[in-house]
Amino acid sequence: MAAPQLSVVIPVYNEEAGLQALFDRLYPALDKLGVGFEIIFVNDGSRDRSAAILREQFAKRPDVTRVILFNGNYGQHTAIVAGFEHCRGERVVTLDADLQNPPEDIGRLLAAMDAGHDYVGGVRRTREDSWWRHAASVAMNRVRERITRIKMTDQGCMLRAYSRDIVRAITASREVSTYIPALAYTFAFNPTEIEVGHAERVAGVSKYSLYKLIRLNFDLITGFSLVPLQLFSMFGMLVSAGALVTYLIVIVNRLVLSGWREGMATLWDRDILAFFLIGMLLFGLGLIGEYVGRIYQQVRERPRFMIKAVLEQDSDEPSRSP
Ligand code: UDP
Ligand code: MG
Repeated sequence: MAAPQLSVVIPVYNEEAGLQALFDRLYPALDKLGVGFEIIFVNDGSRDRSAAILREQFAKRPDVTRVILFNGNYGQHTAIVAGFEHCRGERVVTLDADLQNPPEDIGRLLAAMDAGHDYVGGVRRTREDSWWRHAASVAMNRVRERITRIKMTDQGCMLRAYSRDIVRAITASREVSTYIPALAYTFAFNPTEIEVGHAERVAGVSKYSLYKLIRLNFDLITGFSLVPLQLFSMFGMLVSAGALVTYLIVIVNRLVLSGWREGMATLWDRDILAFFLIGMLLFGLGLIGEYVGRIYQQVRERPRFMIKAVLEQDSDEPSRSP
C-alpha cells in the first residue's frame, strides 16, 4: 500500500469487550475524512481475547489495518512509541481504545493541523471519570506546570495529532520510560489545543490502577524536570545557612551574658554544628543528584534541538552574482 497521509495509533490492553464498538465507529469516521489512512493497533500484551480480535479485524480490512503484537505488557506510552516506529503517515493521531474520546473528532484535529500547527492536543470538554481520578489529574497538572516547562491544559487526554517531524524526534529519543504528549511538546514549533469530547468507557474498566497512575506521573516528572533532585541542594543550603546564623546569635548571646572568659568555653555547640553538617550533607547529596541528572539527560539521547529552517544559499547551485 502507498504511504498514507494519516496514521492512527491505538494502544490496546485487555480491551476485548470494547474493540468491536471501536471498529464500528473508527473505520466509518476515517473513511469519511477522504484521506489515505492506516490504523495501527498495538496490543500491549493483553491477557484476554484482544489479540485474536485484532487479527480478525486485520483480515477484514488488511488495506488500512496494521497490528503490532507485544509479547508482554510494556505500558501505554511504550506501545505508542512502537506504533510511531511503524507508522508511515505524514500526520499521526493517537487515540485510546476505550472510545472515551470520539474518533469523529480526528477530523477537527487535522483541521487544526491544516491551519499550520504541528502538534494539536486534545482537551476533554467534560470529564466522565470518577471524582478521585479527576481530582488527582487536576493536582498533577498543577505540579507539572510548576516544575517543568511543559504547558498542557489536559495532560491526560491522549487524543492528539503530531506531525511527522515530531514523531521522528520521539522515536529518535532513546529513553526507556516516557510520556508521549510531554515529549512531543518539547519538540513542537507551533502547538495548539482544541476541545474534544469525552465519554465514559464503552466497556471494561480503566487499565490504570492507583499504583500505575503514580508510576506514570513519576515518568512525567522525572522525565522532564530535575527539580526533585535540585530540591535537596536547596534544602541543604537553607539548613546550613540557618544553622550558621543560629550559631552566631547563640554564641554572641553567651559571650555577652557570661563574659569573655567563660564564653570561650561555650563556643562548641554540638547541636547547632550537627545541623550545619546535616545541611552540608544534604547539599552534597543534591550535588551528586545534579551529576546523576546530567547523566540521565545524556543517556536519554533525545534530539538536542529541532531546526525549523536554515536560510542559506543552495551549495550545489553556483552563486549567480556577476
Ligand atoms: N493501555 C495500554 N497498556 C497499559 C494500560 C493501558 O496499552 O498498560 C491502553 C488501554 O488499552 C487504552 C489506553 O491505554 O487504550 C488508555 O487506558 P485507560 O482507558 O484504561 O486509561 P484511563 O482512560 O483510565 O486513563
Ligand atoms: Mg480511558
